[in-house]
Amino acid sequence: MEKITFQRQIPIRHDVDVLVVGGGPAGCAAAWAAAQSGRKVLLLEGHSCLGGLGTAGMVPAFMSISDGYHLLCAGFASRLLAKLYSGAVNTITGEAKAGLSIRAEDLKRIYDELLEEAGVEFYFHSQLIDVTMDGRRIDTAVFTAKSGLFAVRAKQFVDCTGDGDLSVMAGVPFDMGDEDGNVMAGSLCSLWAGIDWNRVQKPDDREIEHAIDDGVFKIPDHALPGMWKISDLVGGGNIGHVFGLDATDEHSLTKGLIRGRQYVREYEKYFKEYLTGYENMELIATGSLLGIRESRRIRCIETLRYQDFQNLSVFDNEIGRYNYSVDVHPSNPSLEEHLKTHGNFEARHLSKGQSYGIPYGSLVPVNTDNLLVAGRCIGTDKLMEGSMRVMPGCYISGQAAGVAAALCAAESIKPAELNITSLQKSLLSLGAYLPNAHI
Ligand SMILES: Cc1cc2nc3c(=O)[nH]c(=O)nc-3n(C[C@H](O)[C@H](O)[C@H](O)COP(=O)(O)OP(=O)(O)OC[C@H]3O[C@@H](n4cnc5c(N)ncnc54)[C@H](O)[C@@H]3O)c2cc1C
Repeated sequence: MEKITFQRQIPIRHDVDVLVVGGGPAGCAAAWAAAQSGRKVLLLEGHSCLGGLGTAGMVPAFMSISDGYHLLCAGFASRLLAKLYSGAVNTITGEAKAGLSIRAEDLKRIYDELLEEAGVEFYFHSQLIDVTMDGRRIDTAVFTAKSGLFAVRAKQFVDCTGDGDLSVMAGVPFDMGDEDGNVMAGSLCSLWAGIDWNRVQKPDDREIEHAIDDGVFKIPDHALPGMWKISDLVGGGNIGHVFGLDATDEHSLTKGLIRGRQYVREYEKYFKEYLTGYENMELIATGSLLGIRESRRIRCIETLRYQDFQNLSVFDNEIGRYNYSVDVHPSNPSLEEHLKTHGNFEARHLSKGQSYGIPYGSLVPVNTDNLLVAGRCIGTDKLMEGSMRVMPGCYISGQAAGVAAALCAAESIKPAELNITSLQKSLLSLGAYLPNAHI
């Protein structure tokens, strides 16, 4: 391939204490938490709204927020859930009066409000494209936006891109998928009107197998699609799988979006003709971001492992506890893969009152001195990505990374040198659930 050298002088448009890149659940929590300390915080997001996959990606619901007794993602999420569900969620215990389905437009607006109230400066349509380094420190992050290229200088950087873009640009190694590079399928989520929820029944495997036998789907997928009740007549679809997806490659993402828009029509036929209550359903929209379940896992100074889930591990440097099942979706459409992943999901869950600790080191990328990572790409093994990737898990890691970045910026220290007691104290002051904190 022919190559060119590309050089430009560009302005350093912002000079801040903490720069958060990516405004999904992790990025919102990180920016909000960093701003609580009074630091100057900037969040830059490539898309047109805050919320990442939970808004632009139309993911229709929150997974586990509670162990049955405590709101595990307390702090930023306590404020968010109180606004989103107007008192229907107990922000101490996490007990919810109804399912935690998401009205994406409400969620977008509430993220805007929370970040504005916290004094976070944030801009959309600002895509990270590179970094300049000074040894092991990121000096500036380079963005492209409508107004052209610009750089941002920060004391501390927080990578909340979901795919670890910032960390990889800073030279941090990563892992992706299993030992053969297989990653979980993605999904294009969708919004539907005209569902008669009173007549909807829980589907079982038989209907989907009939539809597969009848040739409804171009690529047969044995997993049961999830249609969530968003409100009377409206449903949020977490349906279908896009296999063989590489979220770090725009060619693959393009193919995935095209396939997603095709399969949504196939599922419409399935819902209308094989199930009851969906006869008059109408597609309103598909997500403007393709749903990515798995891409890079950034190598960090500590790795959260499946044995920590099994052992309900407690860490001295714990930044939170979480409990969602190890939810690894199939990486290919075979029946064998479906049965294996479904069986594993059923087997790998925790009971009421149980949770595992998340060590601070799983947010500290190796080989760098002013970078933290949060969200689905933190330092985990493949199985634990399947648990920590859901939004409440991302709030926990995001909030802790934001607080850590603010403390490091204030004290001019490296994330790896941060005093854990002061981190835990600051997290507790935000309301975080930290039963094993040493203070
Ligand atoms: C199909 C599907 C269904 C799911 N269902 C559920 C569910 O029911 N409940 C649940 O709790 N979780 C669910 N999840 C998981 C959850 O939605 C995501 O894992 C979570 O949103 C990840 O949060 P994040 O902040 O790490 O990344 P994201 O939500 O992906 O946000 C990353 C943000 O960074 C931005 N960004 C990326 N790269 C750049 C860049 N280079 N420059 C600037 N900005 C950038 C993106 O535009 C995006 O806004 C689901 C996921 C998928 C894919």
